[in-house]
Amino acid sequence: MATQSGTLYIVATPIGNLEDLGPRAQRILSEVDLILAEDTRHSRKLLSSFNIRTALQAFHENNEDRMTAQVISRLAGGCDIALVADAGTPLISDPGFKLVRQAHEENIPVCPVPGPAALITALSVAGIAPGRFLFEGFAPAKAAARRKHLQALAGAERTMVFYEAPHRIKAFLDDASSIFGAHRKATIARELTKKFETIRHGTLGELIEWMGDNPDRRRGEFVVVIAGAGAGKTGKPELVATLEILLKSLTLKQSVRIAAELTGGNRNEIYDLAVALQQDIDLPASPARE
Ligand code: SAM
Repeated sequence: MATQSGTLYIVATPIGNLEDLGPRAQRILSEVDLILAEDTRHSRKLLSSFNIRTALQAFHENNEDRMTAQVISRLAGGCDIALVADAGTPLISDPGFKLVRQAHEENIPVCPVPGPAALITALSVAGIAPGRFLFEGFAPAKAAARRKHLQALAGAERTMVFYEAPHRIKAFLDDASSIFGAHRKATIARELTKKFETIRHGTLGELIEWMGDNPDRRRGEFVVVIAGAGAGKTGKPELVATLEILLKSLTLKQSVRIAAELTGGNRNEIYDLAVALQQDIDLPASPARE
């Protein structure tokens, strides 16, 4: 009788706050035969705090190719295996894509165990139209390549989400401001779910000024959410004009309802437009929680 293959679980782990590891993730991480982790020492600490003693093996970008064949053969032999990243959802700017693709090719079940991802966490609090967005991950590290990359995105109308390292955050913001314009709205989401969580909204120019030379504001992990080009300026001119007037004195919900009644337009589309337009109505830069 052929052995039934095991399941590959893709398990999201916290991006900072341990309480974000849910009961299902805890159970699956306890029950599998093996956990693949980017950095086993780092993941051991997380697992120990939940009394999870499952065996760990290193799986990172430098050994992904070599390990994939080995892992597939263990899965095919009936082992249940979980993949975790150092933080957040595996495969999202983290290794694992080749393994998942190969598992599909071998008809091995791949089961998601969802949880935090820094991009979605940032988008949920950014106050920038979240309906449609481009996830850009890390922009190129070298200045010339980064500028070229941002140049290619200058006309993009969708909200953009970037990951950035602390030693490059200032250079990234400077380039984004000079290419997208200092008036483009953006949100810096730093150290999400951690003690020094900071969520700061403003124009790129204001955010650069706020960051200044303050070393504390440049420390930690960053997601930068940037409004798309012409955010709020798409849509029928008369509808845009109506919404702009309504939004200045009414709530989003009231504005959408009245605009829909006045124009007979689709309420969901008007809602998306209103959310985008809100970015263009001048609000003072929000205070950071530090
Ligand atoms: N797999 C992860 C996820 O689901 O978000 C992302 C891994 S990627 C290698 C690491 C980057 O994610 C960091 O450099 C930072 O840009 C972002 N990041 C991760 N945790 C974060 C946090 N707590 N606050 C802000 N950004 C974070």
